[in-house]
This record gives sequence, structure tokens and C-alpha cells, in this order.
Amino acid sequence: MITRLTDKIWVVEGGKNGRYPYAHSLYIADGGGYLVDAGSDPEEIERLRKENGIAMVVMSHYHEDHFTFLSRLPDTPVESSAADAPALESLETLLAWYGVLGNEWDAFYRKLFTETFPFAPRKIARKIADGEEMRFGETRAVAVVAPGHTPGHLCLHFPDDGILFLGDYDLTAFGPWYGDAPCGIDAFRASALRLAAIAADRFVVSHEGPVHRGPIAEKMDAYLAVIDRREEALRDYVRKPRTRAEIIARRLIYGPGRDGPWFDYGEWALLSKHLDGMLARGEAILRDGAYLLE
Ligand SMILES: [Zn+2]
Repeated sequence: MITRLTDKIWVVEGGKNGRYPYAHSLYIADGGGYLVDAGSDPEEIERLRKENGIAMVVMSHYHEDHFTFLSRLPDTPVESSAADAPALESLETLLAWYGVLGNEWDAFYRKLFTETFPFAPRKIARKIADGEEMRFGETRAVAVVAPGHTPGHLCLHFPDDGILFLGDYDLTAFGPWYGDAPCGIDAFRASALRLAAIAADRFVVSHEGPVHRGPIAEKMDAYLAVIDRREEALRDYVRKPRTRAEIIARRLIYGPGRDGPWFDYGEWALLSKHLDGMLARGEAILRDGAYLLE
């Protein structure tokens, strides 16, 4: 389904209300047609390509639920932030930045990315920097590169239209993702607060309800509070010594009944960021392979 926010800025809603493995796309019906992210709806994307044109794909970042249908546009040039480009250009970098290259999750993610989604490396035609003005025909956006979710997550501010595309700073009840290898909690928080302070009327996110009316400061605070709740739950759990395997199995993030390597990876990717912080601040120690609150 396509919703027109303005004459030229449209939301292409993803399946399952944009829940994983889908993500809403943005479409700019100007300058030959720009698709922002390719994880929404393959039929709508194909219809847009035929009827309206897709001259360029802009990737907000390199996550699989955003590139799902990119391989169906093999001849369309792709733009991304300079910081995220390496992971869109190379499967090995993609796996490394997920934090799975060469470890127990390598084979699972390699298969997931090559077969299920499927990843095809793309040479990034133009690499975008923070603050750069982007022109889509007559439509103007300012690039806001927001590290933390990925190193170069690209948000788009359309100042003339009062619209800010937040991508995966998505304000969902699940809470933030900061589990990629080059990322972390502090960067995520700083980017989220920076985004919430940008004046716009409508904020478009990649998952669940796609449009939030501004201001979103309170919603962003509630979203960031999930980080604190995760840390509290983890602190409580490591009052006794707990190994990595125990921490993963406890399912502090996803809850019980979510089995398998996808969830194992997600638990560790997020909680290891909390543990790194707790160790660095001297709030916890790692002894004989077990984490323990000091
Ligand atoms: Zn993402």
C-alpha cells in the first residue's frame, strides 16, 4: 500500500505493518523517482518501477530487512552514506559489521543473507555525508547521518515539507538496536536525541506505524528508556556469576520461547554492549568466564 504524505513524498508500506522481515520504504516521485530502502513490498516496488520510474535507490543502511528486494533492481544505481557503503559493497564486511564473521553464527547469517534476503553486493554510486543537501528533482532533503544503529545510518530531512525520515530510529516498543560491531549505546542515544530535536511535522519510521506526528521528544525518551530497562534486567541477572551462554539463554531481550541462532545472536549483540559498558565503568567484572556485578 502506498500513502502519499505530499504530492511527491510517498510511503510504501511493508508487509506485516513493516515488522521484521519487512521495512517501509519512502518513494520520492520527483527527478525520475527515488526509492529509499527496498524491504517493503516487492509488488508495489515493481509497479513503481514500471509506472513511475526508479532512477535511484537510496539505502538508509545495510540491514537485511532494508535490502530484501534490492536484488530485483540490479541495474538501478544505489546511494548510501559513506560510512555504511562498505557493508553494502561486500558480504564479508556485512558479516563482520554484524559481528558474526568467523564465529558460531557465521554460517547461519551467511546463508540467511545469501539465500533468504538475498544479498547482492552493490557498488555504491554516490556516498553521502552528514549535512549534505540531496536533490531529488525539485525536492530537497538534508542528509542526517546518525551513527549508533549502524555506523552511517542515513536519515533524510525534507525541510520544505516538514518531514523527517527516521529509518530504524523507529520508536517501536521493542526498543533500539545498537548491536552491530562498530556501534554502541552512547552513539545511538546521541543520534536519537539529535533526531528528536529536528523540527518537523511528520516523522517517518521503517517499522510498525510509519508516520508519527511531531514533536516526538516524549516518544523518543520512552524509546530510549528501553535501553535502561535492559540494563537493569541484566544487572539484576549478573548479581550471581553468569557465563556468556547463560546470559544468551536467559532471553532478557526477546523473552522466553524465542529459540534459535537469530535470537541467540540478537541477545548477545545487544547485551554485550551493556556488559562492555559495565566492565569499562568498573560496575561488573569478568572472572573465570563469568560476568558478575561488583
Ligand atoms: Zn536496521
